[in-house]
Amino acid sequence: MLHIGCHLSSSKGFLAMGRQALELGADTFQFFTRNPRGSRAKELDPADAAALAALLRERRFAPIIAHAPYTLNLCGAEEANRLFARETMADDLRRLEHIPGQYYNFHPGSHVGQGTEAGVAYIAQGLNTILRPDQSTTVLLETMAGKGSEVGGRFEELREIIDRVALDQKVGVCLDTCHVSDGGYDIIHDLDGVLTEFDRVIGLDRLKAVHLNDSKNPPGSRKDRHACIGEGCIGLEALTRIVRHPVLRKLPFCLETPNELPGYRREIELMRQAAK
Ligand code: FE
Ligand code: FE
Ligand code: ZN
Repeated sequence: MLHIGCHLSSSKGFLAMGRQALELGADTFQFFTRNPRGSRAKELDPADAAALAALLRERRFAPIIAHAPYTLNLCGAEEANRLFARETMADDLRRLEHIPGQYYNFHPGSHVGQGTEAGVAYIAQGLNTILRPDQSTTVLLETMAGKGSEVGGRFEELREIIDRVALDQKVGVCLDTCHVSDGGYDIIHDLDGVLTEFDRVIGLDRLKAVHLNDSKNPPGSRKDRHACIGEGCIGLEALTRIVRHPVLRKLPFCLETPNELPGYRREIELMRQAAK
């Protein structure tokens, strides 16, 4: 069976998200670890976290995805920004140990004119200070659209980051279908070719999750504007091939489409049918 879910609001707590996911027909979901704009996380309620962990086991969820605030930048130009990103991510990882064995996804960063090479080096340095040998969470680098000075729009950049991380067994990749298409990888006409390239450059064993989004823009546009399933330039047929592909079909898929809950419920059901 397809593992699929959507992005949920964490405002009502951990267990509430697990129940919400079940109501939507999901068996995974994603949430922001804290307000993307602000930096402070609510006080963690260990009983609430433990209740979600129990629900995930009982109802056989696929791993869930905690998403770091997208405003964090491990490769910012100011040292204070880089340190803030490290501290926030380290704090998120400590908290996630209350729900063991899940994924922590983050945007690698924007080099803001320092160059890709410097960006890659800062990101790897950051990860080397954050990752712990005893953590149960796998950290996922998200494939990016390559907008502005984003690092991670090319598979090679992700590979270079991973190559410099000492605890690299704690690091995987989350493939965002909107981002890779916008980044110029032709998942519409040549999914096999893109996956072969991913395998050659990064290794398919690193691929742990998929953000399943259509794109408002054509391949190579470097824009990063998500569309609802079947309403964008990728289209339902190509997205169906993705959820059915033998090397992808067992992964957790997470919708980040511009929907309220009823739209997510429809798209989860749509993709479950499409995957059959
Ligand atoms: Fe993201
Ligand atoms: Fe994404
Ligand atoms: Zn995006």
